[in-house]
Order: sequence, then C-alpha cells, then structure tokens
Amino acid sequence: MKRRLVLLGAPGSGKGTQAEMITRQFGIPVTSPGAILRREKDLGTPLGLETAEITQHGGLVSDKIIVELIEDWLRLHGGHGFVFDGFPRTLPQAESLLSILTRLRTALDLAIWLEVSEETVRERISGRLQCRGCGFTTSVTSAKFAERPVCPYCDGPLVRRNDDDFSVLQTRLGEFASKTQPLADFYKKMSILRRIDGNRDREAVFSDISRLIENKATA
Ligand code: AMP
Repeated sequence: MKRRLVLLGAPGSGKGTQAEMITRQFGIPVTSPGAILRREKDLGTPLGLETAEITQHGGLVSDKIIVELIEDWLRLHGGHGFVFDGFPRTLPQAESLLSILTRLRTALDLAIWLEVSEETVRERISGRLQCRGCGFTTSVTSAKFAERPVCPYCDGPLVRRNDDDFSVLQTRLGEFASKTQPLADFYKKMSILRRIDGNRDREAVFSDISRLIENKATA
C-alpha cells in the first residue's frame, strides 16, 4: 500500500514500535533519523561522530543534516510511500518536507500524533531495551528477554539506549515541548493531523492507526 505518513509524539510514545508494525502489516517502507544516526555512530562514520555528542545529550541535530538524510532516503526509496518515525521534529523540517514533496508532485496523507502522559513516557523509557542491530524495541519486563537479551529478528544484542538515561530524558522532553509541539498546529491547518491515545498497549494503538491508513486508502 502506497501511503505517506509521519509519526509524531514524545520520546517513548511508541513511534518506533508502531512504525515497525505498520511496515510489517502494510509493507510501507519506514525510516527514522534517530536509528540512522545510531547506526552511523556504531559504524564510526564522520556523520555518526559529528552528531554523537548531540544525540547522547538529548539535543536535536541540525535541520540541515536531518533534511539531507531524509532527502537522500526519499531519492532512493521514496517511490513506494513512507512512514517517518521521528521526522519532522521542528517547523523548518516540516516546511522542508512539504517543499520536497511538492517538488516531487506528491503530498503527505497523514500526520499521526501519539499522545502520551509523562507517566507513560517515564515508565516506558526506564524499561526500554532496543536491538543494536535492527532497532527492534521491547521492555525489560518482557519475561521472554529477561534471561537472554537477544533480538528475535536479527540475533543482535538488546541493550538500553544511552539517551534513555533520566537526566537526558529531561532534555529530550524539553526539546519536544519547545520544538516539536508546534507541528500539531502546522498539520492541523493542513487537515491531516490525527491524534491517537498512545497510553494503551501496542495492539490497541495499532488498531486505530490501521483504521486510519485503511480509510485513507478507500477515501
Ligand atoms: P529517536 O530515536 O527518534 O528518539 O532519536 C534519537 C536522537 O536522534 C534524538 O534525540 C536527536 O538527537 C536525534 N534526532 C532524531 N530525529 C531527529 C530529527 N528529526 N531532528 C533532529 N534530531 C533528531
């Protein structure tokens, strides 16, 4: 199914989990600047090293770098629709995406906003385990992974993200409130904003998202 979606929400709102479920169910390609930057850092590339200091401390990487990443990705993979997990995160990024898509004579179908309470964020972030290899995300409370923290999809190690530290989380929440929240108005004006209660379990959230995607497909 060819859909163009952005997933927005605070850290720990479930963007990565839902993006993964969307791509499995609907075959829409997904990308996440955060995941790309973590991989670049693990590989020790110039981009990874240049941005490591910022990501580690919970700040936002420059719009220029992020927009270039997305533009490159769209050039290579954008022909089949997309789900962006964690992009855009600032107004200039949203404006750049709009003009890139206009240039490509296309447009966003949906901006899905996962709304979560601060309590949900703290609970999820404190228990989050992520695969170093493919980005699969789970919780330390999942009995399946307690004894053997190995990814069920790629056998990579399941680890805590270093920016899931509580002091860094404070900065990430601050960046979200000041720079990302204004995007709600931006997409509301375009009539493509859909808010979803992200405090529920992953299946309940996914069921709402699926309905939105399917409705869009028949619209
Ligand atoms: P995430 O995996 O989406 O939580 O992103 C991890 C980190 O990567 C963020 O805290 C930022 O430092 C950086 N990052 C990811 N996406 C963006 C973006 N759209 N704009 C700026 N920085 C980003």
